[in-house]
Amino acid sequence: MRAYSYYGGGELRLADKPGPEIKEPGDAIVRVTLASICTSDLHIEHGSVPRAVPGVTIGHEMVGVVEAVGGGVTKVRPGERVTVNVETYCGECFFCRHGWVNNCTDPDGGWALGCRIDGGLAEYVRVPHADTGLDIIPEGVTDEQALLTGDILATGYWAATIS
Ligand SMILES: [Zn+2]
Ligand SMILES: [Zn+2]
Repeated sequence: MRAYSYYGGGELRLADKPGPEIKEPGDAIVRVTLASICTSDLHIEHGSVPRAVPGVTIGHEMVGVVEAVGGGVTKVRPGERVTVNVETYCGECFFCRHGWVNNCTDPDGGWALGCRIDGGLAEYVRVPHADTGLDIIPEGVTDEQALLTGDILATGYWAATIS
């Protein structure tokens, strides 16, 4: 599949990569239908996100259709339209229990997608912790209307509530 990827030193380019597969019981595979570009993607390009892994597919706000789920996923099923959250999180660690999911201590927790693990500027994306990382798009809501709930709207809302 085609995947827009980061190679360090300001280099971003389309790459051919194998499609993602289920690795953990909590994973889902989502076929991406629409994705955004976030300022944080530009921060990666400019080298100001040291934890971004060279070779990673960028993109952390997208919507799509669930293609497959691991055995531990209960919230979504194949065929459902979903938004993907920028923060994927375990829901159980100290930080998650206090609502600070961006600090989730799980290896796939916090801002992982499109930074430490392959993200959504691609045809397909593996979403870890799918029960917390995905939300079902209600009927009648378009991809365009739902897209910004994954990062930009949620981040702005969060900032407003803590200011
Ligand atoms: Zn972002
Ligand atoms: Zn956690």
